[in-house]
Amino acid sequence: MKKNNIFKKIIKKEIPADILYQDSKVTVFSDIKPKAPIHFLVVPNKVISSLNEIQKKDKNLIFHMLNIAITLAKKKNISSTGYRLLINCNQHAGQEINHLHIHVLGGKKLKSI
Ligand code: 5GP
Repeated sequence: MKKNNIFKKIIKKEIPADILYQDSKVTVFSDIKPKAPIHFLVVPNKVISSLNEIQKKDKNLIFHMLNIAITLAKKKNISSTGYRLLINCNQHAGQEINHLHIHVLGGKKLKSI
């Protein structure tokens, strides 16, 4: 995994990204190497290093992340055709950035996993 948390820099707007949505809890931006016509990342503003680290106190935040993912999927017109949410956790899943994020992928028929 990368040591530098590039997502924290994007959230703080220290480096550029195509930010689609931001509030006090989450930031959403387009993936720099999209794997589908629509590919964006829903990221909590606070650092949670992986899915393994979520706690009960984060339940509203996790629901909020899901809700924002769904809202933006609707806004991007991929909700009726369909889309996929994906969270990679640690090395075997290929987690590259040490900051929890939900991938939202759509805009074409995705390969079955
Ligand atoms: P992971 O493999 O950790 O689940 O996903 C990390 C994702 O972040 C990858 O799809 C990768 O393309 C994306 N990514 C990595 N660095 C940057 C960056 O600097 N800006 C943006 N917008 N996306 C990034």
